[in-house]
Amino acid sequence: MSNLVLKGINKIYPNGFQAVYGFNLEINNGEFIVLVGPSGCGKSTTLRMIAGLEDITKGEFYIDGKLANMLSPRQRGVAMVFQSYALYPNLTVYENIGFGLELLGIDEEVIEQKVIKTAKILGLEEYLDRKPRELSGGQRQRVAVGRAIIRHVDVFLMDEPLSNLDAKQRVTMRSEIIDIHRKIGATTIYVTHDQTEAMTMADRIVVMKDGYIQQVGTPYELYFNPVNVFVAGFIGEPPMNFVKGEVIDNLLLLNQTDVNIPLNNYELVKNHKNVIFGFRPEAAILEAHVKDEEGILIEALVEVSELLGDNTNVYAKIGDNNIVIKIDPHDTPEMGEVIRFLIPYKSMYFFNQEDEKVIK
Ligand code: ATP
Repeated sequence: MSNLVLKGINKIYPNGFQAVYGFNLEINNGEFIVLVGPSGCGKSTTLRMIAGLEDITKGEFYIDGKLANMLSPRQRGVAMVFQSYALYPNLTVYENIGFGLELLGIDEEVIEQKVIKTAKILGLEEYLDRKPRELSGGQRQRVAVGRAIIRHVDVFLMDEPLSNLDAKQRVTMRSEIIDIHRKIGATTIYVTHDQTEAMTMADRIVVMKDGYIQQVGTPYELYFNPVNVFVAGFIGEPPMNFVKGEVIDNLLLLNQTDVNIPLNNYELVKNHKNVIFGFRPEAAILEAHVKDEEGILIEALVEVSELLGDNTNVYAKIGDNNIVIKIDPHDTPEMGEVIRFLIPYKSMYFFNQEDEKVIK
């Protein structure tokens, strides 16, 4: 296990494009960190700088307190699993897992012990004689992980390792990777664009956009205390709803609606003029189910209802604004129906329209 510190890390590629700006992060021993964000936000670049596969243009990177900027990938004690498994097609699972150790000239008996131990951790014992083409996608992925963990590195880096798997395999591998992490305890940095992966796997998530860190926090913190519209909209599925509005005296008037939100409990919102009102789809309570929750009632015109089994996602319009709410499947409304639901005061978010930062 290692602790890692990234201080003011910048990456400018030779063509002059800056992919990462002022990246600061302290990663604790054994922590599972997920870097998440849309395509092109600089996740892989950051991971590759940590691995030593890409130069750090500016800033400092420390491993266990020692400056590591100039160390080679091998000297850093890191192992990396990529999106493409890059297994050797002509080698068996046993040979693929043991290949790295063989290159190091390690004794065959030691290699055998280690390969068998690794295969046990990954549930691959039965497949050691098979070639990669005789394996499922999930099994191949486990071989790729095995090849990385056999070296007992202190830092484990993964770049979208599940993206070649189908939805079901991804769910299974998610928990397998968490399980392996518990067993080997290596500090892990995992890159994905999938917020569900980030939420379910991370100790802490780093949300990135356009080369900048937007927020670092536990899944709980990011979900309930997003710092800006981007994080609020990126974390959560379906995403948070946003409706623009204008503050007039003690009220927030939502654009193109007759909804007014009293701001008695939101003194800070009153200091702004143009505000974005946010609420999560699951915060909505249909009028018929409201008990003693206090909030505002909103009327919406249903466009599509998606019955998913355990809940229904209702896509609707408040004035010209598209929103989605998550309700009990037994209450599924018809297209064209007008529904009324309450958003409790405690579930409301407000953001400044200019810089899109949360107001609180
Ligand atoms: P994805 O999820 O699509 O892999 P990412 O967040 O991992 O995206 P990066 O691969 O880190 O993004 O790329 C960040 C930005 O840097 C992108 O705009 C990309 O086009 C650019 N970029 C990546 N590699 C190079 C390079 N070698 N030279 C110039 N620009 C590059």
